[in-house]
Amino acid sequence: MAKVTANIPVQKNQSIELEITGQGHEGEGVGRYEGFTIFVPGAIKGERVKAKIVKVQKSFAYGRLMDLLHPSHHRTEPSCPIYHRCGGCHLQHMTYEGQLEHKRQMVIDSLTRIGKLENVPVHPTLGMDVPWEYRNKSQVPVGLVNGKIVTGFYAPRTHEIIDMEGCPIQHPYSDEIVNKVKRALENLNIPPYDEASKKGLVRHIVARVGYHTDETMVVLITNGRKIPKVEELIQRLRGEIPHLVSIIQNVNTAVTNVIFGPDTITLWGKDTIEDRIDDIRFSISARSFFQVNPIQTKVLYGKALEYAQLTGEETVIDAYCGIGTISLFLAKKAKQVIGVEVVKEAIDDAKRNAALNGITNAEFLVGEAEKVIPDLYEKRGLKADVVVVDPPRKGCDEALLQTIADMQPERVVYVSCNPSTLARDLRYLEDRGYKTQEVQPVDMFPQTKHVECVIGMQRIDT
Ligand code: SAH
Repeated sequence: MAKVTANIPVQKNQSIELEITGQGHEGEGVGRYEGFTIFVPGAIKGERVKAKIVKVQKSFAYGRLMDLLHPSHHRTEPSCPIYHRCGGCHLQHMTYEGQLEHKRQMVIDSLTRIGKLENVPVHPTLGMDVPWEYRNKSQVPVGLVNGKIVTGFYAPRTHEIIDMEGCPIQHPYSDEIVNKVKRALENLNIPPYDEASKKGLVRHIVARVGYHTDETMVVLITNGRKIPKVEELIQRLRGEIPHLVSIIQNVNTAVTNVIFGPDTITLWGKDTIEDRIDDIRFSISARSFFQVNPIQTKVLYGKALEYAQLTGEETVIDAYCGIGTISLFLAKKAKQVIGVEVVKEAIDDAKRNAALNGITNAEFLVGEAEKVIPDLYEKRGLKADVVVVDPPRKGCDEALLQTIADMQPERVVYVSCNPSTLARDLRYLEDRGYKTQEVQPVDMFPQTKHVECVIGMQRIDT
């Protein structure tokens, strides 16, 4: 069937000149050609570009950036030599100032378009002094290319591993750890996993670093239990890897893109590493979620604490609490904190972390926030003064938002990693007696497209 192209002003392979007037969620430039939306990856708002149309859809097209006719003052040279091949970063071609402005704009756009929230103050994004080397966890696939072990990243949309010596947004220890493990595997002839034949052993190397403690952990994800020459491997890694306190094996024999499998074994040392956020200590196991940017986490939680306006008398619910990071951060300033999280191991960590810090006014419950919190309200009659939510990208379940509206806490603090679902959820609460007072974007993931923010909401008497 012939394609209907009547209202589409561009065709594949056509070259056009375009004014870039916005920036999309993936960091791509957006412009309009005779009213038709064109996405141009790599282009920056304010630029005039020459683009070649590579893909045409019903209501938009993609163009490849061919020429910069008028570059933005926010354009800069990406500092990573493999930036264009890797796909892990999206904004290295933008100055850091430009990135921070772009992220704030993403939040404003979602709040106005999706949330219909017009006059909410959205503060300038809080960025890092040095927006590099911040990640405390690195997970790299291991493979064999032309008989040599490679560790790096999957080329976008493929299963081909591109070898990489270092990554400028990772803590330098992580690169060192991965490279040392790789050499050790080579020297001891421990075979990497081969995706095509499903044979071989080592699938991924995971390195974790305690930013404030310097402790490091190596996790080997293996396609089977037995590692040949495991004692030699352990001795070698202990001798070579700085500040190593833990070597973990995780067995994953499934044909899957999910990195971790069900069995975790400590091969040597501790089961966990320790890190701190401010003066609170956290013990982190191989599989636990811990914020990847420890410097900005303190900034993020500091804002959450500020918006919670605690006096010491409040009961606080921390929904989606992970290993209890926000809960413990708030516990010192509240009467009582109840953390709710669906992953049991994370709740075990949260309880251990409370004990580690001598915090006795925090309680942790396993289960879905949208089930546990309605139960707490309906069956236990619990009424919180402040509810903090920090959901995954899909946002809060409606049952949880409904319970918040019924429970009527004085304040809601929303920590969000996705402005679209955030805007949807804020609108829901705005329609049920809450007012969004302040929005603070915090740059947790410099050089990437990810946007994080904290929001303070107040109940208004109706
Ligand atoms: N507040 C924590 C974790 C935030 S990440 C921190 O700052 O470290 C979001 C968390 O929500 C994850 O730990 C995930 O396991 C959890 N989660 C996902 N769906 C959930 C649900 N329906 N109910 C409760 N927790 C959930």
